[in-house]
Amino acid sequence: MAETRVSPASRLLQPAAAEPNTPAILFDRVGVSYGRGRKVTPALVDFNLRVAAGETIALLGPSGSGKSTALNALAGFVRPTSGRVRLAGRDVTDLAPARRGIGVVLQSYALFPHMSVADNVAFGLRAHKVARREITPRVDDVLDMVGMSGFQKRLPRELSGGQQQRVAIARALAIRPSVLLLDEPLAALDAQLRQSMLAELQRLKEALPDTAMLYVTHDQAEALALADRIVVMNDARLMDVDTAENLWKRPPTTFTAAFLGGANLLPCEVGRVIGTSALVKVGSRTVNAEAPQPAFGHADWAPGSSALLCVRPHALQVVSTRERDALQASVNAAVWRGAVTRLVLAVDTLPDTLVEVDVPGHTPFEIGAAVGLRLPEPAGVLVSPGTAA
Ligand code: ADP
Ligand code: MG
Repeated sequence: MAETRVSPASRLLQPAAAEPNTPAILFDRVGVSYGRGRKVTPALVDFNLRVAAGETIALLGPSGSGKSTALNALAGFVRPTSGRVRLAGRDVTDLAPARRGIGVVLQSYALFPHMSVADNVAFGLRAHKVARREITPRVDDVLDMVGMSGFQKRLPRELSGGQQQRVAIARALAIRPSVLLLDEPLAALDAQLRQSMLAELQRLKEALPDTAMLYVTHDQAEALALADRIVVMNDARLMDVDTAENLWKRPPTTFTAAFLGGANLLPCEVGRVIGTSALVKVGSRTVNAEAPQPAFGHADWAPGSSALLCVRPHALQVVSTRERDALQASVNAAVWRGAVTRLVLAVDTLPDTLVEVDVPGHTPFEIGAAVGLRLPEPAGVLVSPGTAA
């Protein structure tokens, strides 16, 4: 019968959440600009991202790259100038923050100073009209999850920074959100505490397998430790998005190569290419390099074209200048960093490029000393020079 048939138009009106593969979070061409007229600053440009239920995404990038703006657009704290944000298929772009059902943790904790820990954590539950007899057990539960059992009656000022941040996380989790947003939650803590909190966040992530998390950080160690996928941001734009491993092994852009792990990018000329391997000329030497397929978003490697060879500082070796396969270099700087000494080398046949090398231990080097630089085999992975931000 014609009237019972579902037309394509009416199918579009059905709740999107019923469809399989509906992302927990969807940014659909989101743009955010601050200010007006000639003072307008684009803080987020054409931002697209899908986050699956249970997936943890790190937004990683330098300060001012638009990470918080993206998070705030999803939380409802800033209004997109263009585009839409969706949660489980539902368009929430025009919804008040409190009605989005999202848990949010900020760098500044933002606890209510005059309220006890228990009241801080219960705040969202009361706002969501959770039955009173349910509130206490749920507050106790989430405090237990973050290792803060027994602190119910304390005031925020009676807690350390790390403890306050745990309470802020408990408060965000109390409403059992399917989406948890964290904006540099560890940035205000000292280095040692940051390490132990990071381990706890990993544990928390395991304990919340269905919760989608968006984790904003400028610290690549946090992104590597927590994220299923990393979004690399620069200058209001999404540069790259992939698993940490892929971004590390085959950086699609020079920005990601340098930002993630501080890779060297050595100018080289592509020679013969066979499959995913290429002979490249670096300075005076011809070496093997990985040449990822265009499927990874890379350029095609044409013989004779210029490329950049991405080599991590720890993969390079300093050897005697007499070694046959070594590039001739001189020491510009040597800084002891504890486990390694970071050398900055000027290579004779690579003008305008300084090369960073990590050598184990506390090795004294004289500034200006001549050394040999040996590339690993394969020497590194090719990155297209046209991918700069
Ligand atoms: P990140 O979190 O990556 O450090 P932000 O998203 O906070 O970056 O900021 C992106 C850009 O937008 C920056 O240039 C910043 O100065 C600007 N910006 C952020 N918030 C505001 C605001 N409320 N008013 C005007 N400009 C802002
Ligand atoms: Mg920020």
